[in-house]
Order: sequence, then C-alpha cells, then structure tokens
Amino acid sequence: MANFRTHMQVASTVSGLLAAGMVWAGEASLTEGCLLWLAGSLGGILPDMDSDSSRSIHIVFRLFGALAAILVLLYGRQHLALIDTLVLGALAYGLMRYPLCWVFARFTVHRASLHSLLANAVFGLLSVVVADRLFGLDADMAWFTGLFVVLGACIHLLLDELYSIDLEGRRIKKSFGTALKLIEWPAPLPNLLLLALLGAGWWLAPAQPDLGVLLARLLPVSHIW
Ligand SMILES: [Zn+2]
Repeated sequence: MANFRTHMQVASTVSGLLAAGMVWAGEASLTEGCLLWLAGSLGGILPDMDSDSSRSIHIVFRLFGALAAILVLLYGRQHLALIDTLVLGALAYGLMRYPLCWVFARFTVHRASLHSLLANAVFGLLSVVVADRLFGLDADMAWFTGLFVVLGACIHLLLDELYSIDLEGRRIKKSFGTALKLIEWPAPLPNLLLLALLGAGWWLAPAQPDLGVLLARLLPVSHIW
C-alpha cells in the first residue's frame, strides 16, 4: 500500500492541476481554486483515517476540531460573550482532538468500511454540506468541493491497489483487491451507518446541479488548444 507521502503528493498534484485549470478558464476564483486544491488533497488521505498509527487520523481530527470550533464561534457570535465563546471553542476542539479521536481509533479497523467507494461518496457528500452550510459557498462550488474530495479519495484507493502489484517481481501481493472496493463485505452495521450518513448528506446538501455541466466546467479541455 502506498505511504502517506505518496498519497499526499499524487492527490495534491492531480487536484492542483484540475483546480489551476478551472482558475485559468475563469470557472473558479483564485480563492475557490485553492479551496478545491485543499479539498482534493484532504480527500487523498481520508480513507486512511481509520489507521490508528497513520498521520492521516491526526490531521483529519485536527480539522474536525477546527470545524467544531468554527461551529461554536458561529453560535457564540449570536448568543455568547467573547470569553465564553473562546473557552467553549477551545473545549470543542480538545474534545474532538482527543477523546473522540481516541474512541474513533478504538472502534474502527484499518482498511475496512472507510476504505471503500461507498465511504468516499459519504466523505464527498458531507463536504458538500459543510461547504454549503458552514462556509456559505454557492451550490455549484459546494458540489465542486465534494467532487474534489471524492476524486482525492478515489485516487487514494487506486494508489493502494496499484501498490499491491509488485511490478518488478511480476506478482500480486496478498493485499490486492482489498483497497479498491465498492463496500466492505460482510459488515452490515458500518455499511448501514454509512448509508444513513449518505442519506442525511443528500437531504442536507443544496440541490444538485447537472453533473454534465459540472464536469464540463471541471475539465475545460476545449480551452487547451
Ligand atoms: Zn489506504
């Protein structure tokens, strides 16, 4: 399986090129382009967040901590004094970063349900919801954010699968076929949970734009020559 560095490098290169193409073609502003680049790079490490020893889990839970703190800030701006907001925000970050991260690591198995295409779809859809509801991006840009996360996560699974083919020895390692899968099977409970999250994401996401139009904006090939 590919290591953290390879995952980060490939996902950020591919999403960086695509985001740069969109900025060049005027389909995204520079800020939006940077956001999409980050989304694609993050997608590249999300499937390994269930590996307790990986750097991915720490990065992802720091990010969740930041999102929790932002939520508190948005709530505090309306309802709380500054000092209460700051204390609660720090608490929310700490809670996400330590106890919840620990519980998550304890109850997940590496390369199981979260290392699947179903989980990638959940990551993408939840990113659409966060981009729309928390950061107030317009619907198209929110869906682009989700698309980049899915792209990065699919690159991750593909890389892991490629790394299980030992090209020099022309043999296939035992891990072949465990990385790129539609769903983990049999694992009814985690899969049900993922399907429930998928449904909730679909319900909370803004109306989905025409996928063909999104893809045409994502790949401005007509502009290349
Ligand atoms: Zn992996």
